[in-house]
Amino acid sequence: MQGEPDSSAVPVALVQARQCAKGYWVWRVSVCPYCGRQHTHGAGDGPRPTGLGHRSAHCSTRSDDAARGYELRQLGGTS
Ligand SMILES: [Zn+2]
Repeated sequence: MQGEPDSSAVPVALVQARQCAKGYWVWRVSVCPYCGRQHTHGAGDGPRPTGLGHRSAHCSTRSDDAARGYELRQLGGTS
């Protein structure tokens, strides 16, 4: 685990990859840092999920905080 300095002050959302039907990947946020709910983000349809990093939060209740989004980081991942 490499802790890279992060001055953007965007919270980290830990995610796990799930592969849906038709080979489409999603990232599942188990606990949103803003609203505490689960969210899913599209991760493409390639051989591996893509799209980690900064994403918009998918909170049903929009707030100024949630508008900053969060950084998706794979739970237990090495990259
Ligand atoms: Zn949320």
